Amino acid sequence: MKLLVTGGAGYVGSVCARVMVDAGHDVTVVDNLSTGNRDAVPEGARFVEGDVSAVAEDVLADGDVDGVLHFAAQSLVGESVEAPEKYWYGNVVESLALLEAMRRTGTPRLVFSSTAATYGEPDAVPIVESSPTRPTNPYGATKLAIDHAISSYTVAHGLAAISLRYFNVAGAYAGAGENRRVETHLIPIVLQAALGHRDSVKIFGTDYHTDDGTAVRDYIHVHDLAQAHALALEAAVAGRHALYNLGSGAGFSVRQVIDTCREVTGIDIPVVEAPRRAGDPAVLIASSDKAIDELGWQPVKTALPTIVTDAWEYIRALGDRAHSATA
Ligand code: UDP
Repeated sequence: MKLLVTGGAGYVGSVCARVMVDAGHDVTVVDNLSTGNRDAVPEGARFVEGDVSAVAEDVLADGDVDGVLHFAAQSLVGESVEAPEKYWYGNVVESLALLEAMRRTGTPRLVFSSTAATYGEPDAVPIVESSPTRPTNPYGATKLAIDHAISSYTVAHGLAAISLRYFNVAGAYAGAGENRRVETHLIPIVLQAALGHRDSVKIFGTDYHTDDGTAVRDYIHVHDLAQAHALALEAAVAGRHALYNLGSGAGFSVRQVIDTCREVTGIDIPVVEAPRRAGDPAVLIASSDKAIDELGWQPVKTALPTIVTDAWEYIRALGDRAHSATA
């Protein structure tokens, strides 16, 4: 297929772009490099630098693009609480521009990076796709708004679309992993501390109603996530918007993640307790049964030590090139 991958210089987008190139697809990456790295764009993909709203229509108008994988987004929960404008413009306005570009050029299919944050604080776990959507932060609210826009485009304009609601993506694949200039995610932060690039790891909240008082998340390996995108591209049906959760179906607390990182690295990573981070739900665990049943998705790297080991090998290989700034 001929594919446009927005955000293909970012962490998840670059791994998916790599998997698509390796599968023989013809890939063009669009990325404004606001958070992504030019070096992360896989060899074999064309690269166009710019905002989606500025350049995507030209790429699509150039000819017969079969599908768009739309990763480009602002994606930090905490930042979204403090600077919502960056999220409403950067996520919603940019995505509406993409939908319009697809409509005007007759581009038939879309796979969108949605998120567990669309659900907010769940009444029950595991979360299924029919669970209520009550986002607790602007990041989740903007992704939910885009999901609604996509639904209406499928009905009105015959777009074939699938939204994949990611839980906590981690790990690395074929030399591509998490190396953001500003890092806020737990696993890379803990591993940066293991490398000695940080003095300690802050645990945000020790008073949640969970077994050890820290927040629980469902971690999914980035390569399993990329495989789901390949399946979604094939499965999208004109006039239909399908949604799938993607996780491993198991929850790990912040303390359990830190302990796993200590075991994998053999380093006694120092921690400090800190207040809760604004906008963070207590427990997010996915049911991925629908993706397994309908897409034929078969996640294989589901064990947390496997995910952490791949992330650790990646960050260790970076050495001094590993970033370590905190938002
Ligand atoms: N977290 C933490 N310390 C950090 C970074 C994250 O305690 O330095 C917690 C965060 O509050 C959340 C969990 O780890 O409960 C996962 O956060 P992350 O930012 O990795 O992903 P999110 O769930 O926000 O998408």
